[in-house]
Amino acid sequence: MVIQPKVRGFICTTAHPEGCKAAVKEQIDFVKAQKHADGPQKVLVVGASMGYGLASRITAAYSFGAATIGVIFDKPASGNKTASSGWYNTAAFEEFALADGLYAKTVNGDANAKETKDFVIEMIKKDLGKVDLVVYSLAAPRRTTDDGVTYSSVLKTVGEPYTNKTIDLKNRVVSDITVPPATEEEVSATVKVMGGEDWKSWIDALKAADAIEDNAVTVAYSYIGPDITHPMYADGSIGKAKDHLFATSKEITAEGIKAYISVNKALVTQSSAAIPIVPLYISILYKVMKANGVHEGCIQQMYRLMNQKLFAGDAVVDEENRIRLDDLEMQESIQNEVRQLWQDITTENLSSHADLDGYFKDFYQLFGFGVEGIDYSADTNADVRIPSIG
Ligand code: NAD
Repeated sequence: MVIQPKVRGFICTTAHPEGCKAAVKEQIDFVKAQKHADGPQKVLVVGASMGYGLASRITAAYSFGAATIGVIFDKPASGNKTASSGWYNTAAFEEFALADGLYAKTVNGDANAKETKDFVIEMIKKDLGKVDLVVYSLAAPRRTTDDGVTYSSVLKTVGEPYTNKTIDLKNRVVSDITVPPATEEEVSATVKVMGGEDWKSWIDALKAADAIEDNAVTVAYSYIGPDITHPMYADGSIGKAKDHLFATSKEITAEGIKAYISVNKALVTQSSAAIPIVPLYISILYKVMKANGVHEGCIQQMYRLMNQKLFAGDAVVDEENRIRLDDLEMQESIQNEVRQLWQDITTENLSSHADLDGYFKDFYQLFGFGVEGIDYSADTNADVRIPSIG
């Protein structure tokens, strides 16, 4: 079929297999061209099909030659529907990895479910023995716990409503938005979904099955950002979940496996596109970071995480034991420029104050569109196999 983007709200309901493959190859080529530290060899990535999780998997495979098992929750093509981009990314990753002689297998299922954990652990025991790195990179709107209760996360403030600028991406209009406060129940549901409970369940299950090395490392991802985003993010319902994730890292470490939180840069991913206020901040940030020559995407961040922060001798951490990949984003000079542009930005001066084209380029590329060298008018086979799934 001929596959074109169909955008609804902040997601695209189609994905292009060739575009996804080319974007995965670009990430692999980036990592191949860098210097490499000595790193883990048997890696589990939970949430491995897009964004930071995919970039973590690519980095582990191509920096360290690691065997990777990825847990994804994606849809294959069916009828006249394309597969999800995570499906195509994973198919492409496995194809490249196998051609390069690397072990790569994927489990497609709900990472929150016990059956998925059991299945993955069986695979680890059979194929790898034990893992030495667990990357936990889930970003999900809901979670069903083992007792069958489904919790939904919200992106709201805590306490007071918050009004600030936002962008309507469809019409490219800047306007004010008031984000309402979450109820207590909504906050605790968000903590259930995006906090550390499921991360710890993975580590506990791996330990109970003797499927994790004693000196293994585990890492999960968080975000802090500047004041303008705090009521919405760091101090909002998602921030409460991230506080829980951080507290969980200390618990996991206290129980024997070194656990880290890496505070990453704000980037366009399927998840961040859904947060009010943040996409406008990201487009201004892109403008400033690109102008200053310090812009990074997921793969540059994950390359730096693994090769320069986690596995280049002792982990490089801040005073609270967190890894800071947001060091460039949070530089005072960068944030001063962002703050000034944020104050002045309007619908009329959007193109001079923000890198909206860069935002959209990254957004479309998440789904395999707008990738150089791909003929989007060509007939394309949407029914792509993931080698290890068949
Ligand atoms: P993403 O949407 O690009 O990727 C999330 C991944 O999780 C996808 O592969 C998705 O398929 C998978 N997933 C979701 N639910 C699942 C389930 N039930 N079972 C198995 N897989 C599932 O998101 P991202 O932006 O890369 O976020 C990953 C982590 O990084 C999150 O913790 C997020 O908060 C954090 N983070 C993101 C940013 C940012 O700006 N994007 C910044 C800092 C930290």
